[in-house]
Amino acid sequence: MSLTLSSYAFSLAKWIRAAFLGRIWNVPGEVANKFNKIYMPVLPQLCKLLRKTNTDVCAAPFIDFFHLLISHYLCHMLRTKGQLKPPPKLGCGCGDCQELDRFLAGKQSQYTFHISALRISHLGAQIGKGLAGGLVKQETQHHPPSHLVITKTHAFRFESMWEYRLQIVYDMFTAIGTKNVEKIMGDRYVDVCKALEGRDGFRLDDTAAQRQQWDVLPAPTSTVNTTTSVIGGKRKREPEVIDLTD
Ligand SMILES: [Zn+2]
Repeated sequence: MSLTLSSYAFSLAKWIRAAFLGRIWNVPGEVANKFNKIYMPVLPQLCKLLRKTNTDVCAAPFIDFFHLLISHYLCHMLRTKGQLKPPPKLGCGCGDCQELDRFLAGKQSQYTFHISALRISHLGAQIGKGLAGGLVKQETQHHPPSHLVITKTHAFRFESMWEYRLQIVYDMFTAIGTKNVEKIMGDRYVDVCKALEGRDGFRLDDTAAQRQQWDVLPAPTSTVNTTTSVIGGKRKREPEVIDLTD
């Protein structure tokens, strides 16, 4: 009987984990939005929790979840270098504006102009043109202003900078564990490496392509009436499960 109870408690814990992952994966919405607002913020916390509870990320159901997450990120978000948008040119051609456009086309995320209030006003007007909407932030320092700090937003860097997109992938792999990523992706790992080079986009395999929704099966049921024992069995595994669902 104890084996049955132990097996039931194990099945229940596994089901709760799968149901939790299913809830995350099945959140409705546009793919980029879901990655930016849900999956990517949740991922490091989830990985941290799994490490803390000595849970193998390569065991079911986590392996399926991470396989989906990596596959869809590479396919829909990383894409290829050829799909990047060229950085906008906002300058009028004057010296300051050429410096501005060099910064926009370069790898730096932030740049400070040490120029007069008049020239700051001119650059501010150029930056304020339509294309800059949501792409850069600017702030002046001191009164009267003597510095203009321009920062590329996430949207700018994501749309136009390959290194930035790659960094997000590397951060994701670091959170999961690079060796784990190899195991999770299996024979698709070679395609992952190709995708990181930026030439060939990652194609979803049939399983990932078809799994737009994570099917959550009904919860397992115990065949014996042993409420007290089952609760006791759950108590051993509950803390990590509760943390996950919260
Ligand atoms: Zn100018």
